[in-house]
Amino acid sequence: MKQRKIGRSLGVRGQVLIGFGIFALVIVALLWVFQITLLNPFYRSIKIAEVKSVAQQLGSNLESDTLDELAGNLTATTATSILISDELGNQYVGYKLYPQQTSRLENLSRSDLRSIFEQVNLQGGTQMETYTSPFATRNGYSETILYACTVHTARGNHRLILLESELTPVNSTVETLKVQLVCLTFVMLALGIVLAFVIAGKISRPISSINESAKELGRGNYQIRFEESGAKEVSELGHTLNYAAGELSKVDGLRRELLANVSHDLRTPLTMIKGYSEVMRDLPGENTPENVQIIIDEATRLTDLVNDLLDLSKLEAGAAPLECAPFNLTAEIRTILTRYDKLADYRFPFAFVQDVEVVADRLKISQVVYNLVNNAITYAGEDKTIRLSQTVSGGRVRISVTDTGEGIPAEKLRDIWERYYKVDKEHKRAQVGTGLGLSIVRNVLELHGGTYGVESQLGRGSTFWFELTLEE
Ligand code: ADP
Repeated sequence: MKQRKIGRSLGVRGQVLIGFGIFALVIVALLWVFQITLLNPFYRSIKIAEVKSVAQQLGSNLESDTLDELAGNLTATTATSILISDELGNQYVGYKLYPQQTSRLENLSRSDLRSIFEQVNLQGGTQMETYTSPFATRNGYSETILYACTVHTARGNHRLILLESELTPVNSTVETLKVQLVCLTFVMLALGIVLAFVIAGKISRPISSINESAKELGRGNYQIRFEESGAKEVSELGHTLNYAAGELSKVDGLRRELLANVSHDLRTPLTMIKGYSEVMRDLPGENTPENVQIIIDEATRLTDLVNDLLDLSKLEAGAAPLECAPFNLTAEIRTILTRYDKLADYRFPFAFVQDVEVVADRLKISQVVYNLVNNAITYAGEDKTIRLSQTVSGGRVRISVTDTGEGIPAEKLRDIWERYYKVDKEHKRAQVGTGLGLSIVRNVLELHGGTYGVESQLGRGSTFWFELTLEE
């Protein structure tokens, strides 16, 4: 069903092609409308405006000495024949464009001019008419504009301005434009197709490559790299997918490591328990308290591991709601430390000024302290001293656990809080752990809205700390 839909939808190339096609057709249609259909009306209105402007220029220079010169110039530049007379029909200026062609301005008698003057005056001072010349030109019958206006000059004289201008037929121009437009249509369509292919290729090539890589990723190849080229959005997509692939690969690596670690951690104590039990069963002399203790220790190790796994999965699934209540944090830490009394070699100095109360889940916060102290013991230095301190400032209490052990490389400081992460990948029996302890610490503190961190110097030791808000 989905496959069919993909098959039917149009590719980038098709879409760009259609887009360009529509664009080219719209442009051609617009050109057609403006250049072919509207050419004649445009031309006419421009021509009429030109004639009116000639009349206006003449009207404002009627009493100037240069009137004659102006009329000559205007006739030459605007192809307009000009005749100016007074109200009695006395002609002052006369310019005719084509001497060989007949014009209505010719052969107008004084009385003709006088009656035109009166007629125009009656019309309100201007009059315009067009007539078709009886002489067919090469492009068909030409049309002529006749424009008349009366002017009252500053010196009190009356003047009649008569203008005649030919409207050149645009038919031949339109025919030329039509041919041009047809050619232009083909050129634009061809250009559109070429451009569409080039642009679509540029856009779709990296997308296709990303698609192939994504399929590879889906098959479980987390090492795949996505192309980060092409348009900005596409290269950003490639970048994001590379990031996603990196994260997937990290998670996958951690998962494999966990499986290896957990199965190793489960198998080793079980082998020990089984081995010692068999020895004790078969050899009566081996039934010693030391051997029983080994079995108990290994069983404890197993229990701890399984508990850690369960705790973390509960915390992460949000299935372990906080049971917050006020309790004395300082006293709780002192109690925890007494449990380490049997570790006679180690010392646990605890520095604090006074007891403080917090509202938190007592059991979970105890687990945080246990995990930090256990880690400090595991990685403790020669002096076998784990220093704890409690400081109060700004309504918050900070608990620090400091050891003088090997420390943690700076570049690993961020990763140790991740699930299953262990700085030392070599699985040393002496350094038990699944890499879950700090992840539990982090989850519990985040649930409490607390902060946490670590400062460490290689070879000098580490200080893990966390802060909780104090009970008012
Ligand atoms: P683990 O069960 O391996 O201790 P954690 O999550 O508690 O797992 O710790 C993660 C890693 O952080 C450890 O494997 C260890 O490499 C490093 N680490 C934790 N605490 C300390 C410490 N006090 N000193 C040095 N390294 C530490």
